[in-house]
Amino acid sequence: MSHNPSTDVNVNAPDSHEVDADIVIAGGGPVGTALAHALAPLARLGRSVMQITDAAPGATRPQSEDRPIALSWGSRLLLERLGLWNAPAASPIDRIHVSQQQQFGRTIISASDHDVEALGYVVSYNELCNALPPSSVAAQVQGSLQEWSKEGRIVTCRIGTPDGQNRIVRTRLLVLADGGRGRLDEDHVKDYRQSAVTCTINADRQRPGTAWERFTPEGPLALLPFRNRTTQRDQLAVVWSSATTSADKLIALDDAQFLAALQQAFGGRAGIFSNPGPRSAFPLSLRMRRHIADAGVIAIGNAAQTLHPVAGQGLNLGLRDAWELAEILLADKHEPGSAATARQYRERRQADRFAMTRLTDLLVGSFSLPWPGTGVVRGAALAFLDAIPPARRLLSRRMMFGARNFP
Ligand SMILES: Cc1cc2nc3c(=O)[nH]c(=O)nc-3n(C[C@H](O)[C@H](O)[C@H](O)COP(=O)(O)OP(=O)(O)OC[C@H]3O[C@@H](n4cnc5c(N)ncnc54)[C@H](O)[C@@H]3O)c2cc1C
Repeated sequence: MSHNPSTDVNVNAPDSHEVDADIVIAGGGPVGTALAHALAPLARLGRSVMQITDAAPGATRPQSEDRPIALSWGSRLLLERLGLWNAPAASPIDRIHVSQQQQFGRTIISASDHDVEALGYVVSYNELCNALPPSSVAAQVQGSLQEWSKEGRIVTCRIGTPDGQNRIVRTRLLVLADGGRGRLDEDHVKDYRQSAVTCTINADRQRPGTAWERFTPEGPLALLPFRNRTTQRDQLAVVWSSATTSADKLIALDDAQFLAALQQAFGGRAGIFSNPGPRSAFPLSLRMRRHIADAGVIAIGNAAQTLHPVAGQGLNLGLRDAWELAEILLADKHEPGSAATARQYRERRQADRFAMTRLTDLLVGSFSLPWPGTGVVRGAALAFLDAIPPARRLLSRRMMFGARNFP
């Protein structure tokens, strides 16, 4: 997808009443779909919404894209308000055990520190996407946004449809929720040179509701409680980040070798591992869109920022993007595509984006520093969090609700 800048802002623009939809959402992932639902009240204000989704209705997503997602308690509340919370598909996390390999220091974050049922929930990305119903008020168009250009107050989108044709759609506000597939070159990118290997395993001493985050010199290793809905068995979902060359080797190992490597990296706290499911690998980088909101075009979710999964924050942050953008658009103070709307969105999302980006980047960086003595400093930080409940609570509240207590 590309942006054609040659036709940007022209004061002699065509009349802004000539649009196919007031707001067009490009992307049928969880963030775009959450926004489409959150905008339902716009229909009462006489505004129209269209969602462009590149997947055919009911199509199954490739196994290679599936990954375990830890949704925070705040995201659960948000999805509940939108009528999208699917409780049976979610495995609760009530305790997170954080430690580092070959070093002292650990802390335990517990739901009982807060007045919440669970710190969060683990869901399968594919199951989550497949279960999200289309919004009843957003017109659904199957296709892929190819490019857009802006003339005056109108954004013109070219959509490639499954039959190989092009469809032109005109709108006042294009919301990019395409997961960052159509990035502009001007993005800020930091390649971590890591990949995350994901799969499920059984563990013979698994504690229900316990998630484990173990920092290793190669990268963070998370084991998350996960109820396999096909087998109805409690398993652990693995998200194992390591240097890309090591991840490639992990993918190539046979099951017994993979289990042995995992057991060695994690240790025996959860017992003996067995029965690994199919493995996938995801290259990891930090990508920040420099301009997340301009008059007529706003980016949300991974289209605005793509984070390392170390703290499980990408989708949680994206859902808050969708929620806040909907709040601004529903307040209906400005035209959806106005510079004032874009500015308001930018300002309201700044603190949360900044905090979560810094936090995840800091975690990745500090836990992989090879210098002597850094393990001791990290151990002291974990011991500090363990000994000082208010500090621990502050950190976990941030992870659950973002910078402004959401929703
Ligand atoms: C290994 C791993 C583990 C993770 N764990 C967590 C976690 O524990 N917690 C958490 O909060 N986040 C986690 N994340 C991040 C999370 O997956 C993303 O933040 C989230 O999927 C972003 O949602 P989105 O809707 O913005 O983008 P996506 O999920 O990427 O969806 C974008 C959609 O847009 C479609 N699309 C693409 N291009 C176009 C186009 N041109 N036109 C129309 N449609 C288009 C795509 O096909 C897709 O359906 C993890 C990520 C990885 C890789």
